[in-house]
Amino acid sequence: MELTRLRGFRDLLGADARAMAIAEDRAREIALSYNFLEIRIPALERIELFARSTGETSDVVEKQMYSFADRDEAGTIVALRPEGTPGVVRAYIEAGLDRSDPEQRLFYSGPVFRRERPQKGRYRQFYQFGVEVFGRTDPACDAEMLIMSDEILKGLGVVSRCEINSIGDAACRPAFRAALIEWGRAHLEQLCTDCHNRIDRNPLRLLDCKIDAKLAATAPSSLDYLCDDCRVHFDSVRSLATAAGVETTINPRLVRGLDYYTRTAFEFMAEGLGAQSTVIGGGRYDGLVEAMGGAAIAGIGFGMGIDRIAIALEAAGLVPSAKPDAIVIAMGANALANAVVMVRELRRKSLRIELASPERKLKALLGRAAKIGARFAVIVGDNELARGVVQLKNLESGQQSEVSAADLARAIAGEA
Ligand code: ATP
Ligand code: MG
Repeated sequence: MELTRLRGFRDLLGADARAMAIAEDRAREIALSYNFLEIRIPALERIELFARSTGETSDVVEKQMYSFADRDEAGTIVALRPEGTPGVVRAYIEAGLDRSDPEQRLFYSGPVFRRERPQKGRYRQFYQFGVEVFGRTDPACDAEMLIMSDEILKGLGVVSRCEINSIGDAACRPAFRAALIEWGRAHLEQLCTDCHNRIDRNPLRLLDCKIDAKLAATAPSSLDYLCDDCRVHFDSVRSLATAAGVETTINPRLVRGLDYYTRTAFEFMAEGLGAQSTVIGGGRYDGLVEAMGGAAIAGIGFGMGIDRIAIALEAAGLVPSAKPDAIVIAMGANALANAVVMVRELRRKSLRIELASPERKLKALLGRAAKIGARFAVIVGDNELARGVVQLKNLESGQQSEVSAADLARAIAGEA
């Protein structure tokens, strides 16, 4: 077949699609319980938005963005969003909320695009659920990001652990940054070529160097450079999280490379995912709204990889199969006219019902009922209808009985 999907892009069918929906539904439910409001934003934006917020020197912007010239006269360069946060921040500023009503709690969900090397848990289109809080600087807000992440994962049955770090703020990060540059220069020949570029442009990213983890372990740690305010904030975030039952492990390698990221950085890693185990990444970005042209408003948020959580759910056998309660088979035109009403009523009682094709024979339809795993077949015939009854066949036991049409929903649900 010529019209195949692109590399790194996926078709999700059956249990794979169901697992995604389960993860997303759970995240949405928890976000609402934390009093977040949904925001829906475009998947396509001006490329400058991402250069400005995701960072001109990040791998994502340098190598991974899908971008192209729009067909307008100005030749606007547009890009598919590689993450959710920039669009949310733009929308927040564009709606004037940074000035009129700065404290906001927003969540979003949808596809994002990064042209990276595809592998298990790493795709070129993937789905992120994320939250952003604007206008809060207190450590309780940071702690709630951790607790909320934990709540989403626990509710899904995903076993995870949380790593945390603080990368300081405008007061203390410059000294840490300088120490990193000095360390990088001293170990230049041991660092990878990517890191050679990073030293001056984005030295915090040196800690991400995948080539030599042992060497990275000798790098300066941001925690040793925290000012008193950042230290107090960090300790408070951790102790509030602990009080709510979320254990955090310090990982001094955990960084966000850009200047407007401040203080708290965290990740949740799930079990059973192999190399791509990070399912949630988040942190504070107190300088971002201002860097994007808004007022000086603090922010914090996290992004959750729905695809990876779905893989974890499937691996743990946590995706229930989608089986109908009953298939309804009408015998003849008159019965069919009654059956369409009947199935509508049954579905209103939250039963999962399929109306069978009237073009096929009873035997073939019972075959289909077995194949889709229906618990019951309801056979609607003219004679029975005249008496206000239908035939109800339990497809597990093979038993068939006559049930009054009025009792049908109860009979189906009662056997559940
Ligand atoms: P990684 O280190 O795995 O590349 P990241 O730091 O690039 O992750 P973020 O930008 O923080 O990831 O995105 C938030 C979450 O989105 C990640 O924790 C991960 O679960 C998920 N994610 C990131 N990239 C991909 C991808 N290519 N395919 C599937 N999920 C992804
Ligand atoms: Mg990445």
